[in-house]
Amino acid sequence: MDFQLSEEHRLIQQTARRVAKEVIAPRAAEMDITGEYPHDIFKAFKDTGLTGLTIPAQYGGSGAGMLALALAVEEAAKYCCASGLMLLLSALPSQPVMIGGDERQKQWIGNGIASGEIKGAFCLTEPNHGSDAGSLETSAKKDGDDYIINGEKMYISGGTVADYIVCFARTNGTPGPRGIGAFIVETKSPGFNVAGQDRKMGVRGVPTADIVLEDVRVPRENLVGGAENQGFNHAMLTLNSCRPVVGARGVGLAEGAMTYALEFARQREAFGKPIADLQAIQFMFAEMAIAIEAARLLVYQGAWRVDQGLYSREHAAYLSIAKAFATETAVKVSSDALQVLGAQGYMMDHPLERHYRDARQLMIVEGTSQVQRVVIARALLERELVYP
Ligand SMILES: Cc1cc2nc3c(=O)[nH]c(=O)nc-3n(C[C@H](O)[C@H](O)[C@H](O)COP(=O)(O)OP(=O)(O)OC[C@H]3O[C@@H](n4cnc5c(N)ncnc54)[C@H](O)[C@@H]3O)c2cc1C
Repeated sequence: MDFQLSEEHRLIQQTARRVAKEVIAPRAAEMDITGEYPHDIFKAFKDTGLTGLTIPAQYGGSGAGMLALALAVEEAAKYCCASGLMLLLSALPSQPVMIGGDERQKQWIGNGIASGEIKGAFCLTEPNHGSDAGSLETSAKKDGDDYIINGEKMYISGGTVADYIVCFARTNGTPGPRGIGAFIVETKSPGFNVAGQDRKMGVRGVPTADIVLEDVRVPRENLVGGAENQGFNHAMLTLNSCRPVVGARGVGLAEGAMTYALEFARQREAFGKPIADLQAIQFMFAEMAIAIEAARLLVYQGAWRVDQGLYSREHAAYLSIAKAFATETAVKVSSDALQVLGAQGYMMDHPLERHYRDARQLMIVEGTSQVQRVVIARALLERELVYP
């Protein structure tokens, strides 16, 4: 067992740390207020090659993998969880294609994402189907060599700036997960509409969109892997593989929040001494560090598992554990860090109220905390997660 990062991983971490400090940190508060997508931050990711970490070399990326992406996302999220999401969005809408696509689709999406020339969005959730995504209603009806897609997708991260979406749609009358295909839909297609942008609590720098597809004609070659009934499988494998990276957003956020509060506690005085001298405050920090270290190990191990190809159904529990623990750690740590600042923590003059609002998203996206527990409990009952 080796707990050292490789030289490549360390270099990626250092690059992301520099971008985070120099480009992201000065812009984080403003992005939260305006809610505008920060194209300058995307450009910094693109210029440093961070958009191609999970794309294999033969499709234009560096092939550094999911652990590399987790490390980069952790650095970004120390200052701005939305920027961590921007990086994650290099993987979420490209993974279905990398997992299930044909050669042409992999070249197209892989090269586009890795070079930063195109952005994607992952469109699974609908107004009536979130956790129960296998019941989705968006339809893709065959029409000659094309499909005609109709439906509505909700809360789509990056939906307002995407050049393409991976849209999960029902291809035939089969109910449930077996009747679903995944389609690469270009957002310039007639009938593709961003019907609205959500007014949300946090992670405001990456807008989420309500997307309506009205008679959108998509050529058959855009059906991922040419498989009409594999879409749900591609979606689940994608979500499994990205779960440690959502966890990394939580780890980075928690580290950033704790570090900020610690500096504050060294300066702020009460009862004639810095509050950092109070054991009650010291123990809060000790608890934060315990949780962060545990979450970090789970996330790194989960991402490493993905890089070993261990993210199918029977391995899913480890990825769900990492996601659930790290995102819940982010909520707890950001809340405690805010508490250390007292009234000042509640004010927008400090980043902690933003971290707290941002953290709350992480327990909902890409499978809620409850859904992660469903996955973990299933693995225990089916004897996939065993401690012999
Ligand atoms: C900011 C943001 C960005 C998002 N970005 C995207 C995106 O890019 N693409 C995308 O497709 N979706 C996106 N989503 C949607 C997200 O994936 C869903 O919100 C999530 O899957 C939960 O679905 P839901 O909100 O419909 O809740 P529901 O499924 O309606 O669940 C409601 C409650 O019931 C619980 N619940 C549901 N089923 C079970 C069960 N079996 N056992 C126990 N409890 C259960 C849930 O945990 C939750 O507490 C985003 C959401 C947010 C908030």
